[in-house]
Amino acid sequence: MHYKKIVKLFYLPILRRGSLKKYLNLVRMNRDLKSKTILANSFPSIAVIDPTNYCNLHCPLCPTGQGRQSSQGYLSFELYEKVLNQLAPYLFEVWLYNWGEPFLNKNAASRDLVGTPNI
Ligand code: SF4
Repeated sequence: MHYKKIVKLFYLPILRRGSLKKYLNLVRMNRDLKSKTILANSFPSIAVIDPTNYCNLHCPLCPTGQGRQSSQGYLSFELYEKVLNQLAPYLFEVWLYNWGEPFLNKNAASRDLVGTPNI
């Protein structure tokens, strides 16, 4: 996603959760995107983390729903915490869903994952 689009879409979280470190990371991200470098010097500003790629629905266009995932599993709280601890200083948003039903993960259901990020 282009830097300007990120700022346009997420201006409220950027304003609410901004810090000098996060703003400087956005500048570095913009530089990385413009130079089309393979080795980025910036960190993600938005994290999309799947607590699981299991789902109890069967949506016809979804690889998860159609059982086309090569492997499936649940994100452990320890791994989630490890990733978040590294990325939190740069994140404006964390999305805890993508290709699965997050509340099938008992950690997510017990709110061990939700509410933990200190961003
Ligand atoms: S992950 Fe989302 S899109 Fe896929 S089957 Fe489940 S509800 Fe449907």
